[in-house]
Amino acid sequence: MEQRIERIKKQLHSQSYKLTPQREATVRVLLENEDDHLSAEDVYMLVKEKYPEIGLATVYRTLELLTELKIVDKINFGDGVSRYDLRQEGADHFHHHLVCIECGSVDEIQEDLLEEVEKVVEKRWNFAIKDHRLTFHGICHRCK
Ligand SMILES: [Zn+2]
Ligand SMILES: [Zn+2]
Repeated sequence: MEQRIERIKKQLHSQSYKLTPQREATVRVLLENEDDHLSAEDVYMLVKEKYPEIGLATVYRTLELLTELKIVDKINFGDGVSRYDLRQEGADHFHHHLVCIECGSVDEIQEDLLEEVEKVVEKRWNFAIKDHRLTFHGICHRCK
């Protein structure tokens, strides 16, 4: 935990940003809930437990900054809510998601698996791929 915070601090510094206490509190909430896909409001409620004086706008700006720096990815599972997801350290691409239409659970696939598809897209559409989003909707192993 502390090591990852240290590395995130360095990432911010390299872009001339500071890890202020409010930003650190937001990063901690994301790390503590890494398996969840929290909305800005969820993050805000959790940060507020430790920093009662913090405002939603501050949390929101921090999440946008972390998204810009690719520390966090913003994702929408089709319910109109933006959720924030920590990027795996060293990952070039955003991980994939399995969203269960029965129980609403979200599982993650860390393997990229898309190399072949990307090659085809890059060639056929002459498109330089920088990232992708892939969400599968279906029925999870628990609900089957
Ligand atoms: Zn995820
Ligand atoms: Zn399920």
